[in-house]
Amino acid sequence: MAHHGKIIIISAPSGCGKSTIINKLMAEYNLPLKFSVSATNRSPREGEIDGVHYHFLTDEAFRQAIADNQFVEYEEVYPGRFYGTLKSEVEKTIAGGGNVLLDIDVKGGCRVKEMYPADAISIFIAPPSIPALRQRLEGRGTDSSDAIETRLSKAAYELTFAARYDARVVNDNLDIAAQQVYTLINDFIAQ
Ligand code: 5GP
Repeated sequence: MAHHGKIIIISAPSGCGKSTIINKLMAEYNLPLKFSVSATNRSPREGEIDGVHYHFLTDEAFRQAIADNQFVEYEEVYPGRFYGTLKSEVEKTIAGGGNVLLDIDVKGGCRVKEMYPADAISIFIAPPSIPALRQRLEGRGTDSSDAIETRLSKAAYELTFAARYDARVVNDNLDIAAQQVYTLINDFIAQ
């Protein structure tokens, strides 16, 4: 049988340091991983580059991509805001023996794991606690108190998915959490 590459799924409630951990993994650790660039209909934030951070699509183009069956999965992560994993980012790479990293929400993460039970590992990054997450979001100073409450209630909901993941990493200390995620991925890739 042909050797298949692996799929690494990473999910976390917002504010848990997921992006920082992923950036650290990609920049500082020498893992043979390709970051899967998702499609979204949200607008780019400052500094985000089309085709690098996301494939930024119009609502119409996103709908067309759904109709054309271009997605492995897609979700409405926030009201009206769609995100999807493109087949073109995943299938050729794993068929060729390469590994891909998916940074996707909890529903998408569970779905992809179900689709690739043996070839995927799902890793959930959790905050030390909800109060700790509150402190972190307040400390960041980027969100209004309403936005913080919304994020916290979404985080509490997302945490209910943690048990369905293959592994959970608590991000209390960034370096330790990144090291733990690295070890999980490295061991899984070596299998
Ligand atoms: P942001 O807008 O902050 O970049 O991302 C919001 C959320 O969408 C994050 O939780 C991120 O993991 C998730 N997300 C990004 N791409 C995908 C995707 O392709 N599929 C799913 N289901 N979620 C995604």
